Amino acid sequence: MQYTIPLFKLNFDEEEEKAVVETIRSKWISTGPKCEELEHLFVEKLKVKHAVSLTNCTSALHLAFEVLDIQEEDEVICPSLTFVATVNAIRYTGAIPVFCDIKSNHHINIDGDAIEALITEKTKAIIVVHMAGFPCEMDKIMAIAKKHNLKVVEDACHGPLSEYKGKKLGTIGDIGCFSFFSNKNISTGEGGMIVTNDSELEKRIRLLRSHGMTVMSYQRSLGHAMAYDVVDLGYNYRMDDIRASIAVVQVNKLEADLQKRITVRKWYLERLANIKNVVVPFANHDGFVSNYIMPIVLENVSTEVRDKVRISLYDAGVQTSIHYPAIHRFSNYQQYARPLPVTDYVTDHEITLPMYGSLTEDEVEHICSTLAKSLNEL
Ligand SMILES: *Cc1c(COP(=O)(O)O)cnc(C)c1O
Repeated sequence: MQYTIPLFKLNFDEEEEKAVVETIRSKWISTGPKCEELEHLFVEKLKVKHAVSLTNCTSALHLAFEVLDIQEEDEVICPSLTFVATVNAIRYTGAIPVFCDIKSNHHINIDGDAIEALITEKTKAIIVVHMAGFPCEMDKIMAIAKKHNLKVVEDACHGPLSEYKGKKLGTIGDIGCFSFFSNKNISTGEGGMIVTNDSELEKRIRLLRSHGMTVMSYQRSLGHAMAYDVVDLGYNYRMDDIRASIAVVQVNKLEADLQKRITVRKWYLERLANIKNVVVPFANHDGFVSNYIMPIVLENVSTEVRDKVRISLYDAGVQTSIHYPAIHRFSNYQQYARPLPVTDYVTDHEITLPMYGSLTEDEVEHICSTLAKSLNEL
């Protein structure tokens, strides 16, 4: 059926079209001035030293672990309630993902108090995911990392411009990774970004994103582009200027869009507070967040009821989703599975409701009244 209220709507208008046409007409469509402009925007808006544009966040995560020197048999502590790319990237290096549970139905991020018990002499890093743009317990996590000499990667895909105690998410750990996939806050189809305050890491990321070739510096020093060396085993993880020109428009529209999302979340909170057995994670959080998605967790009901509620919403024209099917339950992850009771509960009882800037109060009312009616009847 055609949803009347989709989970997400692109925040696109003529601006994006114009930007693409301009880039095409400039005759330079691969990595170039638009990628640079986008990187400068990230540096400025996130108040971080370096930003490197990439093909997507999966390649960003891969490079993050690679430049942090994560190697075969090393262990990396990670959540299971995330998109599979977060944890796949650990395995690209040959390292072992060690799943840590999330905190509670109210705080569905990695549990800062459960991390230390998982640390062994093989542990090299922690990757955190800021769900829906709500920050992980970064003070606690950074203190543990410091004490045990561990690196911290932030998967900040849900949280561009989100803040934790005045700092932008992605700039607190060693490396932050962002995605510009179609349904993210910044949409370009495919695209990604790494941010870091470490100049050595940035240099290596730039090298690895383009085959380990020194061509850029050679171009500058020798004045021609023919002579280059390959000094590292790199990849082609470069973004192109067509996508970057869309991203520049999107980043410039982001703050206004996030303000609208804050209002949408307020409408949801007012209504969901009155529905029995519905928990809104991070309901009492204050601080600027991106509100990438609108997750709720049902309590005192079965998974079957959760699934039936989703069907009722579907029948009422409301698209929903689940964030996320827990990774430790996937066939390809059986060898890494361990007991994660809170993650198990949330993955079985979570529903993601529609969230985008142009969602109206009437639509939020329709979604919440359908949800309440369906929960009452089941
Ligand atoms: C979207 C997403 C990714 C993957 O990003 P791509 O750009 O599609 O590679 C990784 N982690 C999280 C939490 C995401 O939401």
